[in-house]
Amino acid sequence: MTNQNNILQDSHGRDHTYLRISLVERCNLRCFYCMPAEGVQLTPKSHIMTYEEIYDIAKIFVKHGVNKIRLTGGEPLIRKDIPFVLEKLASLPVELSITSNAVIIHKFIDILKKYNVNNINLSLDTLISKKFKEITLRDEFDIVYKNILLLVKEGFKVKINAVLMKGVNDDEIIDFINFTKDLPISVRFIEFMPFDGNKWDLGKMVSYNDVMTYVNASFQESDIERLQYEPNDTSKNYKIKGFKGRFAIISSVTNPFCDSCNRLRLTANGQLKNCLFSSTESDLLTTLREGKPIEPIIQKAVQSKLKVRGGMDTLKKLQNPEKHNQNRSMITIGG
Ligand code: SAM
Repeated sequence: MTNQNNILQDSHGRDHTYLRISLVERCNLRCFYCMPAEGVQLTPKSHIMTYEEIYDIAKIFVKHGVNKIRLTGGEPLIRKDIPFVLEKLASLPVELSITSNAVIIHKFIDILKKYNVNNINLSLDTLISKKFKEITLRDEFDIVYKNILLLVKEGFKVKINAVLMKGVNDDEIIDFINFTKDLPISVRFIEFMPFDGNKWDLGKMVSYNDVMTYVNASFQESDIERLQYEPNDTSKNYKIKGFKGRFAIISSVTNPFCDSCNRLRLTANGQLKNCLFSSTESDLLTTLREGKPIEPIIQKAVQSKLKVRGGMDTLKKLQNPEKHNQNRSMITIGG
């Protein structure tokens, strides 16, 4: 049953209370699975949302029920006016969080605390310095590792996102889980997803079942605890008995969580995406700049959200490269 007054409810009855805002298309890393080798066509600066525009758009989403905003990118912390973005958004009644690669996050500890940004998702695909450079094309492992420990020490709630790829880092699954032994963090293994230019193929992906095969072979069955599913959870959560942290698997490819999806995405150039996998976008920024109301556009975009993965409801459809090429690269969507 849909509610016509709720502009953030889609035609499948899903309410959208979570907005992910990409602040920037650029990044200080070059992860090969995220940014195409040939780079991306960057939007001219004049077409990137200013911090006032981010606030004006976010305020409208909050008015209609959004209670959680996550800042992402590109690398959100390289945006020069990030203090202003945080200050403005922190004035809204939302839980504010951020996803970062942690390369420069040590410079932002005080400001993140000041604006109550407590939930921090960090990307780290390997615990081996040499491999980090091969994946990201930058030699930043030591600082990223140090910053993870720093954030934990400073009391932030840290989740680590690791995109698993066969022959790249699937040999580190157990090392990552052992990383949660003494640290109160959550390591989340993400199934490698297809986007424009990232040379995805199903054979490279490490599935939920693959991860659990490694886990079952390495730990006693009685030590592997399945944790309770929380509303709108995108991950299946586990813990090894006695470990301080936990681990999780985000199975967007083999077992998508679209039924309970409550997410919308706003790109740095002000386009609303109703699904990570959707190739259609709705231009909020141009309308906002024309001084016209953006609610009708938001409502139409939300209404048209497809039931499963932007219409790629089967693995076969997900494997069709034409579908990925119509979408953006992950770096310009904001993961
Ligand atoms: N720069 C920040 C960071 O590194 O976390 C935020 C942006 S990044 C695009 C957000 C997340 O998207 C990261 O955790 C990254 O691993 C994930 N990601 C990028 N490409 C992906 C892909 N092809 N499949 C699955 N996750 C991907």
